[in-house]
Amino acid sequence: MDVFDGNSSEHANLPRNMIENSMFEEEPDVVDLAKDSAAFPTFPALDPDEVAYEPCSSRLLVRGLGENDMDEDEEDCESSARLLGMSFMNRSSAHRSTSSPFSRQSPPRTCSRPSARTMVVCVLFLVIVASMTMVLYFLPGCNFTRTGCRKPNKTTPIESIYPLSTNGELFPWAQLRLPLSIRPLSYDLTLNPDLDNMTFTGRIVINMAVLHNRKCIVLHGSNLNITKATFKLGDGQVHDVTVLEFKPKQQLAVKFSEELKAGQHCVLTLDYSAKLSHTYDGFYNSSYSDKDGNKRVLAATQFEPLSARKAFPCFDEPAFKATFLIKIIRKPNYMALSNMPKANSTPLHNGLVQDEFEKTSVNMSTYLLAFIVANFTSNSKNVSETVVSVYSVPEKKEHTYYALDTASKLLKFYNEFFEIDYPLKKLGDYTHTPACLTQFICSFSLHIAICSLYLLSDLVAIPDFLAGAMENWGLITFRETTLLVGKQSSPLEKQVVASVIAHELAHQWFGNLVTMRWWNDLWLNEGFATYMQYMSLQTVLPKLDIGNLFLAVRFRALDKDALNSSHAVSTEVNTAEQVEEMFDSVSYEKGASILLMLNTSLPGDQQFRKGIIQYLKQFSGSNTDTDDLWNSLTQVEVSTQHQNISEMMSSWTSQKGFPLVTISRKGDQVNLTQEHFLLTTDNATHTSSLWNIPVTYVNDSCSLAPECRQVFTLNTKSGTFKLPESVKWLKLNYRNTGFYIVHYGDEGWAALKDALSKNISVLTNDDRASLIHNIFALSRLGRVSFDQVLNVLKCMSKETETSPVTEALLQLNRIYGLLDKRQETNIVSRMKKYILAHFGSLMNKQTWEEEDSVSKQELRSALLQTACSLAEENCTQQAKSLFKTYVESNGTFRIPGDLQQVVFTVAAQSDEDWSTLLSMYHYVTYDAEKRKMLQGLASTQDTRRLVWILNTGLKGDHIQTQELPLVISTVCNGFAGYLFAWDFIQENWDRLIEKFPVGSFAIQSIIKSATSQFSTQAHLDQVQAFFFSLKERGSQMRSVQEALETIRLNQRWMDRNLSTLRNWL
Ligand SMILES: [Zn+2]
Repeated sequence: MDVFDGNSSEHANLPRNMIENSMFEEEPDVVDLAKDSAAFPTFPALDPDEVAYEPCSSRLLVRGLGENDMDEDEEDCESSARLLGMSFMNRSSAHRSTSSPFSRQSPPRTCSRPSARTMVVCVLFLVIVASMTMVLYFLPGCNFTRTGCRKPNKTTPIESIYPLSTNGELFPWAQLRLPLSIRPLSYDLTLNPDLDNMTFTGRIVINMAVLHNRKCIVLHGSNLNITKATFKLGDGQVHDVTVLEFKPKQQLAVKFSEELKAGQHCVLTLDYSAKLSHTYDGFYNSSYSDKDGNKRVLAATQFEPLSARKAFPCFDEPAFKATFLIKIIRKPNYMALSNMPKANSTPLHNGLVQDEFEKTSVNMSTYLLAFIVANFTSNSKNVSETVVSVYSVPEKKEHTYYALDTASKLLKFYNEFFEIDYPLKKLGDYTHTPACLTQFICSFSLHIAICSLYLLSDLVAIPDFLAGAMENWGLITFRETTLLVGKQSSPLEKQVVASVIAHELAHQWFGNLVTMRWWNDLWLNEGFATYMQYMSLQTVLPKLDIGNLFLAVRFRALDKDALNSSHAVSTEVNTAEQVEEMFDSVSYEKGASILLMLNTSLPGDQQFRKGIIQYLKQFSGSNTDTDDLWNSLTQVEVSTQHQNISEMMSSWTSQKGFPLVTISRKGDQVNLTQEHFLLTTDNATHTSSLWNIPVTYVNDSCSLAPECRQVFTLNTKSGTFKLPESVKWLKLNYRNTGFYIVHYGDEGWAALKDALSKNISVLTNDDRASLIHNIFALSRLGRVSFDQVLNVLKCMSKETETSPVTEALLQLNRIYGLLDKRQETNIVSRMKKYILAHFGSLMNKQTWEEEDSVSKQELRSALLQTACSLAEENCTQQAKSLFKTYVESNGTFRIPGDLQQVVFTVAAQSDEDWSTLLSMYHYVTYDAEKRKMLQGLASTQDTRRLVWILNTGLKGDHIQTQELPLVISTVCNGFAGYLFAWDFIQENWDRLIEKFPVGSFAIQSIIKSATSQFSTQAHLDQVQAFFFSLKERGSQMRSVQEALETIRLNQRWMDRNLSTLRNWL
């Protein structure tokens, strides 16, 4: 996915895992181990197979006895003996653990053979447990549930190990992750959506292989009403079966009286009905108004991460890959799309039409499946052997050409870069030659033995879509803003579209062809796609000047990862909410940043690429974890001088945060030390984190060209290298390609300031931006005073380049916002003067006409937005006059895309123009412009209007609910709105989490917007009290911890710096 988001609303209100609840009451130390990874975040994540595929308590039991992991074969769906065993051992393990909870966080990955004594203890124990179970089992009324076997006033450890199904029967599975014993091979899915009544019926036929003996099948299903279920084992008879459901975990199960045996094949067929979802996930309905104002409806899907189960029963985890055959029944006036091309259409007797799609030619994860029923039109183009089509609502067909052209170029680039052609093949022609077959099998390991004639890639703009885009294999879905551009669109708007397309196309290899095994390694999908989006665009569309954006993205990733509430790139994920939370800046932006660091630290420019190709080819069609990637990259490493990549990179993926590198010089000695750059130490577990840092540096004798760059590997607490004393200054982290922050000490900073005051061009633009970012970060950390920050800015007063200027503006605006919200009126007005004095002449130099250079557009929109927000006269006058011309031109005059937001924001401050803007908002069709109008409307300082706009966004009629996070963030920027927004969020929390799941990117963004500008104790108390009161409705979210930490930081910064600001400004 790009720009995150979208997914299940159901699990927002889930009761906590029953095991966790009961354990929490009785044995809290056991709970910590099994569930709360955040408590010990610096430990390496457990192997997902170890953690999730068996109840955590049984795992303790087995390990405690010195055994290897329990074999799947030993598991029995209803093994009461095991239930008791688990409960018993939870207690015994609790004794062992109280002294050292950490020891259980990192169990050995391999176990030695058990000793004879252990074996005897084990056997004895099992006998006792079995006997107890038999006795209890035959006691009348005892079923090991909440209702059975309970003594009054005493909670037994037996209850809630296995939960109850909706029909009252015991549900045979208690884990988030499914058992591994049954594997789906293929799905045959028929769907019949009724867009008039917003319901659908479906039939799923799942072919499965039994890998271990089992008496039940457990799979996912959510809010599906199963009307008929049949089962067939091998060549046996088809017979009816009962499907059990456990709603809190969205699981279904079928139990059998006899074991299914390893090696057997079976088929489960389920008929069901359901409602189309009214949120943005699962199989959901969406609507839009056509050019005549008529309401048109459509149905589309968004399955990542946990919502395929809302459309059909399935094994909804990324590692359960299978093939899919999709059939969709529709009215003749609609079209249906799915991952694969349509194979045939059959008219049905009831006047409907059934479209059957080709069976997927590759095994794929359920979250990548997609289907759409709508009235769309398309434009297509052939690229090599791939047909690329871009779909939109008919009115916007002419806005699809840019996407079509860009996708074609990028597809060609990726085909060549990865040396693997676009992976999803169209089936249908089996007349391949043996050579062709061999080649194909090489590329795709074991899954497909077909050489295709056509490849297919559809890109679809959906009017109602929460995430930025979704990489469904062969049917990539987008927001309209991220796919459609008009002829007059500005290069900056094109940059957005091109970036998102580049990201989603990269996923066709990273994520779709090779998929992370579990969501803990989501970064393998998202970090890579994010890195590739910038890398590919630099080559394919250099005019889009994507470098500045990528640099800014890396700065923001550092800012977020400096918090104690951050997490390791590869981290434990044990609940549905934690899965949602993985779609964050760490997985995407830090992931991309460390890949850049790796690529730039390798010798030659092909090393990284070779490793990637090796990885993709080796794991084609299968699932991987982070180590697989590092191992592939290490294997192709040819330089003996270079260190082991696995060793280096695991220090960046297995622990949260990043290092602060401090430099000091004495004579010809340069001393470097590293420490964790941690902004707050609240509740921090103090660890001696070390990173393996490829420290790069340039100096006054050579500082601009890539050849000037020298590398020093710092993998210990401190390190030394020599440099002639004549070197005046050093700049570390050349072009900020490394993921660390540098402190130069008083002397080092002074030398740099001195050099920059004389000639700003002694460093690259990126390096100057990096100095600005680092000095602000150090001030936030408390290592430098704000005086020093202002001094660094002073020596760059002649700065005119985009990256350094935009970074400085962002940092100053952040502080300005905090002071403004604290109503420090005097300092605010002096700060305003300071900003205008520092950037005034550059602001005045900006033009208001169309501008071709992306970099110049970025610069002027940042400068003018600041100028107008500070009510700088010249800026506001220009903006007003441009708006006037625009309104009077009746659609013939267009405001340059990069200036629209400034102009609409200024206009929205007057009553009359706000109303004009609102009426324009309703009829403007071009989505990018519409969003900027919305931001304008939401920036009003009229509180009645603010309340109206927030409520309307929540209702979703005049303003689509997908825009609510944007509305909230815009409202929060303004002085008048930020407290209203905070009240609004508190009052409407339940409705918000109905629309956006707990933990999702939308919720993360809403919390951040609403709280990141608080800096007082009173607000801290309020925020804490509110989120604490939510309990399972959100109090556990990482973003809540981030919010609290950020407020404390703001508070601390104010305490330290207010007096300096009063004196200095
Ligand atoms: Zn993505």
